[in-house]
Amino acid sequence: MKRPRKVVESSELLARETRLDPFVRRRYRLLLGYPAPYRVGMSSLGYLTLHRTVSTRPHWSVERVFGTPSASGTRLGSLETGGPVTDFHAVGISVAHELEIPAVAALLRGLGLNPRRRERQELRGSPLVVVGGPMTAINPRPLAALADLVVVGEADSAIHGLCDALEEGLTVDNGPDLLAGVKAEGFWWPHTGAPPPSPLRVGPELLPAHSAIWSPDAELRDMFLVEVGRGCNRACAFCATSRTAGGRCRVVEAKSVIARVPDQATRVGLVGAAVSDHPGLREILGPLVDSGREVGLSSIRADRLDEDLVALLARAGLRTLTLGVDGASARLRRQVHKGITEEHVLQGARLASGAGLRRLKLYQLVGLPGETDEDLDEMVRFTRELSRILPVTLGVSPFVPKPGTDLADASQAPPKEVDRRLRHIRKSLQGRVRIQPASARWAWVEARIAQGDESTGEAVLRAWEQGGKFADFKRELAD
Ligand code: SF4
Repeated sequence: MKRPRKVVESSELLARETRLDPFVRRRYRLLLGYPAPYRVGMSSLGYLTLHRTVSTRPHWSVERVFGTPSASGTRLGSLETGGPVTDFHAVGISVAHELEIPAVAALLRGLGLNPRRRERQELRGSPLVVVGGPMTAINPRPLAALADLVVVGEADSAIHGLCDALEEGLTVDNGPDLLAGVKAEGFWWPHTGAPPPSPLRVGPELLPAHSAIWSPDAELRDMFLVEVGRGCNRACAFCATSRTAGGRCRVVEAKSVIARVPDQATRVGLVGAAVSDHPGLREILGPLVDSGREVGLSSIRADRLDEDLVALLARAGLRTLTLGVDGASARLRRQVHKGITEEHVLQGARLASGAGLRRLKLYQLVGLPGETDEDLDEMVRFTRELSRILPVTLGVSPFVPKPGTDLADASQAPPKEVDRRLRHIRKSLQGRVRIQPASARWAWVEARIAQGDESTGEAVLRAWEQGGKFADFKRELAD
């Protein structure tokens, strides 16, 4: 059994909110899993929000467990007590995106559970395996291969219905009736054969999500996280958060965001798909910066920048300005309704340089439908131009068609062709720009899973059991 690591975290807020030590075992127990290392999970606002929500319910305690696909075969225990999985009423796992499914399987196996739902259900007595998280809002069907129960969409409110039902003895057998009784929506029981429900969307009264525990070992080191809005009112054709995909923005009032920040938080992360679209962003940033805190933003649009905002961001401790460009050329950006021009990005780079920022980080998409080598040459020429203003890091992601978006049915270029385009970009910018390309092969796997169903989830499990290399996924996911 892997021993629990020594955890050094700021949990005073959690202790104050619950008026109890968070490590004390209580009557009902949830094991909250994240299919990625501790540093990633502890930077996920959704995961941290679930942890806080259940921890602050009377009679409940929550323990955490983290894992990766490479942890397959390692026996896992909870971070807090290292206790066995049978100590818990349920195992809840948050899945952000499709490529985390192998790590979910490894996590379950590491806990001593069979990753396959159907085989697990033949042996009664293990805790209920509940899966939720952002991936469920895009397409939950592949998760049916692993999960007893899927919470589809935003779980902020549904988690209480689930806990109520667990207190009444929720099992796979009585689950559909029991959850219907507490009028909890958004739950999908794959064993019933029913189709998944529409994703839950919570009202603004339940926002903002915020953390209650922060850690020096998280990727977002010692950072208190609070959301400023959920969803996005833009209409980028490739994006699963766009309003065309049902993600209209629910904005949190500036005073509610500020009120959530505890006195002892010295670093604050403002979270949202469209943070710079918040109408009261300066009212949030101003007091936080004036109180001497460092503040980070999860997303900034180039067309929202002006001199005052960039100066405020510099005072907030920002050193790298990160912008999504999301299209190799002006023609492609128009085609996907990105609404960002070269002049927006150039102006952002000049303002950042003037305010003393040290680096520009750009996110680009390669392989959008209709992309040509001329589009890529335009990206190369423009990136060179920007690198004369500030050092540039270029993150390049292959296009993945996601269900529910305008480009859901668009074809994806084969990995070999995307690799050729990535090589072209790297060769053309070598020595000028730091390039961080994502894998064309794994983007292909991601697209297959995103468009898949339970049989796709089964194929992912087989590929993972065969070693989890790209060749294994290619063989199992090929048409
Ligand atoms: S890419 Fe960004 S701006 Fe566009 S819809 Fe998605 S979250 Fe909004």
